Amino acid sequence: MKKPPLLPITEPLPLQLPYPWQESLWQSWDQRRQAGRLPHAVMISGAEGVGKRRLALAVANRLLCLDANALYPCGRCKGCELLASGSHRDLYQLRPADKSRFILVDPIRELSRALAKSGQQGGWKVAIIEPAEAMNNAAANALLKTLEEPDGKTLMILLSSRPSAVPATVRSRCQKWVMPLPPRELALPWLTAVANSDACAAQLDAAGGRPLLALSYCSGDELAERAKLRSQLDELTAQSLSPLQLAEQLGRSGEPPLHWFKELLEEALRALSCQPGDGRRGLHELFALRDATAEAIGWLQRGNNPSLQSVWETLLLRWVQLPTAAASR
Ligand SMILES: [Zn+2]
Repeated sequence: MKKPPLLPITEPLPLQLPYPWQESLWQSWDQRRQAGRLPHAVMISGAEGVGKRRLALAVANRLLCLDANALYPCGRCKGCELLASGSHRDLYQLRPADKSRFILVDPIRELSRALAKSGQQGGWKVAIIEPAEAMNNAAANALLKTLEEPDGKTLMILLSSRPSAVPATVRSRCQKWVMPLPPRELALPWLTAVANSDACAAQLDAAGGRPLLALSYCSGDELAERAKLRSQLDELTAQSLSPLQLAEQLGRSGEPPLHWFKELLEEALRALSCQPGDGRRGLHELFALRDATAEAIGWLQRGNNPSLQSVWETLLLRWVQLPTAAASR
């Protein structure tokens, strides 16, 4: 049988600490931990790109660290070292298998069996399910029993950017941690330091205030990716690539290309609006397409989850019909 993804987790996890904007959540959680009042299940919800996964990993690291009195995991004990080498067997993670959008029932059953046993290191067992809304009905039902009657030192952490899409029966059994957008005065200094650049404010704005998404915009790879999108659009114009083919590719590339596409449209708008008379043909269509792209970005930033591929299909089919694109063929 094909092994479910990352169960238990085998990727090396060097010391995991919360992000600066997660400090108050962290401190109140740690007070409950030190007082022995931890729930068995939490659901961390918040928009993509605010660091839900890091918070979950930091919580896991804190629980699996053997220095129980410290606020943060120590990074030196056996528990921390096993995590750093990817060989701690008491941290589990479930994500959709490759090419699937769903977490299915068999991996959930396997997780439940694993959590029913004692931890291999004799302490906590932690499971991260990401994204929780990817569980299909059978998987969510299978998880309920474990959520209701977990074995002693067990913590299940469910991550979701669309908590309303998680069955209410699952949600009601989890303590809720809501991660709002980080305040700019915490996000921007972090981004500036990590990206090693003083010019990150625009990227933070383009990412709707979500620091991790903004960081992906700041990375050097972005320039190459932007250039690739531009040449793919040229291929569309030359009809050597179809809108549906390109939509399929871009549907797998996350949100950044949508922002670049919007910026390219704005660039084209500026160029077109400088043209005299007839040269401005297609200006209204271009404006409308830019607005539609901005609207799609808005849906994603508000935590809605439309299929990226269908968003791109709609936009690219309109793009190839623009008078400017049609005229250049
Ligand atoms: Zn430690």
